[in-house]
Formats: sequence, C-alpha cells, structure tokens
Amino acid sequence: MPYTYDDQNIFAKILRGEIPCTKVLETDHALAFTDIAPKAPHHVLVIPKGPYVCHDHFALDASDAEIADFTRAIGKVCAQLGITPGADGAGYRLISNAGSDGVQEVPHLHVHILAGRNIGPMVMAAS
Ligand code: 5GP
Repeated sequence: MPYTYDDQNIFAKILRGEIPCTKVLETDHALAFTDIAPKAPHHVLVIPKGPYVCHDHFALDASDAEIADFTRAIGKVCAQLGITPGADGAGYRLISNAGSDGVQEVPHLHVHILAGRNIGPMVMAAS
C-alpha cells in the first residue's frame, strides 16, 4: 500500500518555517536540527525535505539526488559534531523509527544521531 503523507506533522511545519528549530545543517534536500527533548549530549534529527513518511518510503521512492544528499547530510552532521570514530571521535548511534512497532512518533522520515555518552544497549530485552 502506498504511503499517505500527513503534511500537518510537526516536521512538515518546521520545514515550512511555521515552527522554529535549532538548525544544525541545511542542504538542498535535507535539514538537521536539535531534538527538542534530547536523550544524549548530542541529539540531532536529520530529515529529508521531501514528503517521506519513513525510511523504506524514502529508500524506494526518493530520487538518487535526494538519497545522496540526505545520506551525506548525516555524514556532515557527524563530522560537524566531532563524533566520527574515523577522526578520533567517540562514535554515535543512528536510529530511524518506523510505524507502530518501531514506535515512530512523527510521521516524517528522520534519523536520530545520538552521541556524547555511551548510548547503551541497542534495544531493550524482549519481555
Ligand atoms: P520518533 O519517536 O518519531 O522517532 O522521534 C520523534 C522525535 O521528535 C522525538 O525525539 C521528539 O523529542 C522530537 N520532537 C517532537 N516534536 C519536536 C519539535 O517540535 N521540535 C524538535 N526539534 N523536535 C521534536
């Protein structure tokens, strides 16, 4: 089933400038800004500017230019934050939640970049 994009989601409003954000980086096809409720010393969200609900939607429907730009924007933010292991940074975790089991709150694709402390176990143990 194709995705239906809700243009009233909070990140769509940020992209339209209706809600402020603390911008970290902007490119042709991507925007990065700090999370309003940070879970780590560095907590940056990177979003594509296009109307994509989650990662598989973007991966299958976005143009090569959008995918390249978004992927490179993530790398640029990591470099900007000084967290890349390849440059003696202490590392980071990328998370992209999708749908109900993925516990996605905002239905516009976003990647969380979490860094600045040990981020801990990848997921909670099954109960
Ligand atoms: P999700 O659970 O969808 O993967 O994550 C959504 C994230 O968006 C959460 O970490 C939440 O704190 C963040 N968030 C929600 N509303 C806003 C907002 O208005 N501004 C910013 N900067 N982040 C937000």
